[in-house]
Amino acid sequence: MNKEVMFSSLTKAITCSILLFLLITNAFLVLSQSEEWLSIEDEHFIIKYKAGKEDDAKLMLEYCKFAHNVTMEVYPHELDVKVTVYLYDNKSWTRSPYSCWADATKAEIHFLTPSDVPGDARRWVDNLWYQKNVVHEYVHIPTIRDLWKTEYYYSFGAPDWFDEGIAEYISVFCTTEEILQKYEHYARNMRTTVINGSVFFEDYELYR
Ligand SMILES: [Zn+2]
Repeated sequence: MNKEVMFSSLTKAITCSILLFLLITNAFLVLSQSEEWLSIEDEHFIIKYKAGKEDDAKLMLEYCKFAHNVTMEVYPHELDVKVTVYLYDNKSWTRSPYSCWADATKAEIHFLTPSDVPGDARRWVDNLWYQKNVVHEYVHIPTIRDLWKTEYYYSFGAPDWFDEGIAEYISVFCTTEEILQKYEHYARNMRTTVINGSVFFEDYELYR
């Protein structure tokens, strides 16, 4: 192999390596960007969302403000942290589109991004569902965090009928006429469950 051929092979090898390096780092960058949480916030809430879902985040912030106002009316409270609401995309949401949850310890609420709800679930999981359930999940945070400050909680914990009952009461009866019409039968079911002495709501329908 003469010097010229050797030089040309070396240049090719270096060019290939650089191209490969750029390809890998670029792919990694694109991947990490799609995994990254973006956020908007106000004085009480931080909404974490995925790229391209700003409209969902703004809508969620409106639901959160509504949830805060409604809850303050019925259950005046003060939180020492902002509540973080996570809006998962389809790829990272492993639960049913009918579910959502709150973690009072971390002051977090978790939802599937509204525009990512699959078509067949949208009939039920609509704007009203989000509005009502953001209130429900939000209520868990101040009520449970306040309960921690009581001796009762350390002795007995919080029964489900209280946790879920107060969240459902405020979200159904203290919000809007539209919500009341759509969800009143849940509250009736819940009352029967409590009267029967049960502390667990086994009827999955209750959480839908
Ligand atoms: Zn709940």
